Amino acid sequence: MKQKRILIYGETDGVGLSAVTRELIGKSRALAAKSGLEYSLILIHDQAENCRDELSAYGLSRIYIWKDAGDFRADRYADLLADTIRREDPDILLVGGSPEGRSLAPRVAAIFRTGITADCTELALDTENRLIQTRPAFGGNIMAHILTPNRRPQIATVRPGVMPPADRTEYCPSPEWILCRNTARTSAIRLLGIEPADAAEEIDTCSLLLAVGGGLKDKEDLEMFRELAALLGAGLAGSRVLVERGFLPPEAQIGLSGHSVRPRKLITFGISGSLQFRAGIRQAQKILAVNIDPEAEIFRAAHTAICGDLYEIVPELIGQLKEK
Ligand SMILES: Cc1cc2nc3c(=O)[nH]c(=O)nc-3n(C[C@H](O)[C@H](O)[C@H](O)COP(=O)(O)OP(=O)(O)OC[C@H]3O[C@@H](n4cnc5c(N)ncnc54)[C@H](O)[C@@H]3O)c2cc1C
Repeated sequence: MKQKRILIYGETDGVGLSAVTRELIGKSRALAAKSGLEYSLILIHDQAENCRDELSAYGLSRIYIWKDAGDFRADRYADLLADTIRREDPDILLVGGSPEGRSLAPRVAAIFRTGITADCTELALDTENRLIQTRPAFGGNIMAHILTPNRRPQIATVRPGVMPPADRTEYCPSPEWILCRNTARTSAIRLLGIEPADAAEEIDTCSLLLAVGGGLKDKEDLEMFRELAALLGAGLAGSRVLVERGFLPPEAQIGLSGHSVRPRKLITFGISGSLQFRAGIRQAQKILAVNIDPEAEIFRAAHTAICGDLYEIVPELIGQLKEK
């Protein structure tokens, strides 16, 4: 009987492997430890050699490197990934829920006429080693457990920041390296130009993060949070309400339809703590919440609760930090 296999679509962040790729490897490794599955990875990148040392330390079985593929084009990359799937014949394909992964995975699912579950927050195997793909549904009010019973591969994109990244292991078998070349594959997508978006803060990687919510009355009031963030060396994010009001860019939104964050410390100000907001802060190590309402839901998720008015607390904090 053929060994069951997972294939991971790897991405880089310009320097090394992207954070979500490490998270997918971590999850594959955990699934493999329970079931004996093999897990392999595909990386489409001319500088993939830079990741060689790191990729050798995760217990991967095979690593497919595609060179000369050019910059990301969803149709061309989907072809290369589909080629690799035909060679590797995986039961499961895991793709990061990054902008690249989100545009690539559905194309591959269409090529193989198989199912895809987008934005999974948990993955497990059932007794027959079928992938149980868990994601929030109906506005986060229920967690759906989804199976792809008949078609293969089972394809899941995984929300960045919700699964622990893989640790490197010193002693693990060396992977088999398979070098592939992009022969005549062209793209029908023409890039007309690139307009850089406003430099958005990387809220996913901040170790100290401030999050501001609907308790903020005016956009100008955000200035005191910018000052506080600068004094503390913290990142600044918010709830969906602030994004909808145009106070913060969408990249700064925490929650079900925003980012999942994993700071060592998160301080929330004027955030009620809705189910959808809390979906994005499960991996925060310590939460300190400031809210004027003693019954606010956020206090149930917080390790430290401060019941008070943010318009009094924040200027006081800034004053004290400046005195130091
Ligand atoms: C499908 C779906 C997806 C969603 N996705 C997200 C998501 O990704 N992220 C998200 O955040 N929301 C999301 N929402 C919206 C979510 O349901 C809530 O509406 C939202 O989280 C509320 O934001 P908030 O708590 O900041 O604002 P509010 O609900 O307006 O709460 C403001 C809080 O501030 C407190 N407050 C007021 N004044 C002060 C003061 N002076 N000092 C201190 N505290 C004060 C109040 O007591 C209150 O608790 C989603 C909803 C749906 C249906």
